[in-house]
Amino acid sequence: MPEGDAVHRLARTFHELFVGRCCQVTSPQGRFASSAAVVDGWTMSAARAVGKHLFLEFSPPPGSGSAPLWIHVHLGLYGSWRFQGDGTFRAPSSVGAPRVGRDAPAGTRDHPGLTLRSSADQDGFRAPEPVGQVRVRIATAHGGADLSGPTRCELVDEEERRAVVSRLGPDPLARGARGDAAARRRFVLAVRARRRAVGELVMDQSIIAGVGNIYRAEGLFLEGVSPFRTGTRVSEARLGRLWVRFCDLMTRGVAIGRIDTVAPEDAPDTPLPGDPEASRWYVYHRSGRPCMRCGHEVAEQVMQGRRLFWCPGCQH
Ligand SMILES: [Zn+2]
Repeated sequence: MPEGDAVHRLARTFHELFVGRCCQVTSPQGRFASSAAVVDGWTMSAARAVGKHLFLEFSPPPGSGSAPLWIHVHLGLYGSWRFQGDGTFRAPSSVGAPRVGRDAPAGTRDHPGLTLRSSADQDGFRAPEPVGQVRVRIATAHGGADLSGPTRCELVDEEERRAVVSRLGPDPLARGARGDAAARRRFVLAVRARRRAVGELVMDQSIIAGVGNIYRAEGLFLEGVSPFRTGTRVSEARLGRLWVRFCDLMTRGVAIGRIDTVAPEDAPDTPLPGDPEASRWYVYHRSGRPCMRCGHEVAEQVMQGRRLFWCPGCQH
């Protein structure tokens, strides 16, 4: 499942390619047809991410008397967006942002929900036949985005959008989150109030929005916190540092388009045979291998249905 950084990149891509443009909105599969018909021909006016939730705002033509509406999407485990377009359909700025073109789609490897593809150098863009079960197709004159397999896809008004956001914890990728004392405190107090394992709590989207399995493993490792320690038994100071750690790791993920957590001084000089990812993560998907910092074997077990990785030597 894409983590918060991938969804924020997605919002950025929509901002660059669609916002300010009149959009055709359809549902080739049919399941979103009546909602698509409402906003078909409207202009995309905003693209926002909160945690793993994407909100695309559509504004009606002037004088219609209608209020703007949002398409709310949560990709879940199986959802994906596919972008296709002509030569002008590309992310214009933003260092490290996904690009549409002949180059390999930079940074999509950690982001299975994000596929970028160009339909070559022809003049003008003709949308190809939808592949598979496309729930929503959003298209401009130059390109389009196809959504398949989302967990949630619904048309909501501003009040409903706010209700979704109000159920989420603070987002480490919100603007200014790193220095936001109120957001940090909300996270710290929410964890401290619960007698559940902190490894479960940081995956709870009502406590912190956007953290997934990789950031959980790497954030807790880097702060030396055992995932089995209950929330009530992690000090406020440690949780405050953990908040800042998530802000830094995830901001880097947005910037570079992949999740890399290992500091250069910790990276092995040569990649281990059969383990090309060894220099990217400290503990995630490294069970049975020696910890880069202490040499202890990295451990793995299932916690609430998801694989959990940690170093028993470093995390207490
Ligand atoms: Zn270790």
